[in-house]
Amino acid sequence: MSQMFSNKHELILVVDFGGQYNQLIARRIREQHIYCEVISYRTSVAEIVARKPKGIIFTGGPDSVYLKNSPKIDKEIFSLGIPILGICYGAQLMAHVLGGEIAAAKDSSLAEFGKTVTHIDTHSVLFRGMSDTTIAWMSHNDYIKRLPEGSIAIAHTAKCRYAAIEDRERHLYGVQFHPEVNHTVQGSELLKNFLRSICGCHADWTMESYAESAVKEIREKVGDGRVLLALSGGVDSSVACMLLAKAVGEQLTCIFVDHGLMRKNEGDEVENAFADSGVNFIRINAAERFMKALAGISDPEKKRKIIGMEFIRVFETEAQKLGRIDYLVQGTIYPDVIESGAGDAAVIKSHHNVGGLPDFVDFKEIIEPLRLLFKDEVRKLGLTLGLAEELVWRQPFPGPGLAVRIIGNITAEKVRILQEADAIFREEIVNAGLSRSINQYFAVLTDMRSVGVMGDGRSYDHTLALRGVTTSDFMTADFARIPYDVLEKVSVRIVNEVGGINRIVYDITSKPPSTIEWE
Ligand code: GLN
Repeated sequence: MSQMFSNKHELILVVDFGGQYNQLIARRIREQHIYCEVISYRTSVAEIVARKPKGIIFTGGPDSVYLKNSPKIDKEIFSLGIPILGICYGAQLMAHVLGGEIAAAKDSSLAEFGKTVTHIDTHSVLFRGMSDTTIAWMSHNDYIKRLPEGSIAIAHTAKCRYAAIEDRERHLYGVQFHPEVNHTVQGSELLKNFLRSICGCHADWTMESYAESAVKEIREKVGDGRVLLALSGGVDSSVACMLLAKAVGEQLTCIFVDHGLMRKNEGDEVENAFADSGVNFIRINAAERFMKALAGISDPEKKRKIIGMEFIRVFETEAQKLGRIDYLVQGTIYPDVIESGAGDAAVIKSHHNVGGLPDFVDFKEIIEPLRLLFKDEVRKLGLTLGLAEELVWRQPFPGPGLAVRIIGNITAEKVRILQEADAIFREEIVNAGLSRSINQYFAVLTDMRSVGVMGDGRSYDHTLALRGVTTSDFMTADFARIPYDVLEKVSVRIVNEVGGINRIVYDITSKPPSTIEWE
């Protein structure tokens, strides 16, 4: 059901052999403004040829090439004239298939792990312009024992005779180390040499050019059909909306269900961002309905389920009013694609529902215009398309919104208190210049009350918790070391400006053992 966007850019294919760093390799290539895709090693040579790649990279992998069932590749790939760079397992596989010998390094204590002094032959195009002694990151239990015919060594370490190999005539290169990790000091130069000098790439991958070709393709695909998009106000759905609006304008309708549990002013911000963009934008203010459904519920799982269900009902009612819909847009991005099947495009998410969309809205096909992009590319694309900065740099925000940041039952008054307190916290983080270095920060209204003294009288009010984390991928996170004077300012302002709070605590747990959100 999902649609793969072909594209007209020069292409590098990254053949995945199960390495830990496959995404990182793809990132490194894209950073050099060269488009690449990760594909499974099971992809046939015919399919690879049909894609007309300018070069191919084999990733590392946990297996040993000399074992019977380890991932292999058809020998034919080496005689196509397409440059290939094998990394670690990829280099070993190349050497093995071409008739060299790979053996277990541990028997002869030749395994290497971590930063390793490596001597390189700078006459090789692969190492051009680099200094001849360098640090490379190693991680291997096997090693190339004997070179295949036609290959020469172009790097060595104290333990490894063939730390890099070259078959110049056939444009084949292999490195035992990992140029994609930052610990390999000249790794990006190496990749650049491969991509630019050996594959002849010109680096034509920019978000401007992507936007242009995506718009064209969407137009061809959609024709005069009608398109529906569920807009959450998150980065991905907002950027997808801008792209679709540019491509098919009037034929697109966006539905934004405002459940009343957004941050302060956020519903209006989302609406304003799309107000002048020419998008058919429908905002459904469903706060009352959501509050009613949530009344008296304090169990976090129940809250989430209720919100998911109500969301679907509201969305469905609105979608039905629109009549026939041909295409539904989803904001799937590339890490979702890679993670769900080692680059194996066939197995991917036809059932994946962004934002809990109903399965039963009737449509012909799903359009996923961001499915080739990494998150930072989506942000760049958003800026290119003129999306408002607040939306481009919006922090991750849970679908159920503030409902899972109010511990215990939810009331309109608690939502108001939390919105106000959270807004002050965010404002002060921005004022302190910390908004990019702290990856996510927000307030939580606990269900604890405590005694305070305010204006010489007793108070018995809510305890508010502040949470700030630093993280690169949101899988693990550390609590942010926010300076005390910033916290002090936040605390004073909140207690003074927001009624109902007389105590504020800062969450100093990491993930794990905690999660970033409280519920
Ligand atoms: N499994 C192979 C080895 O141990 C390759 C490792 C890798 O690609 N990092 O040598």
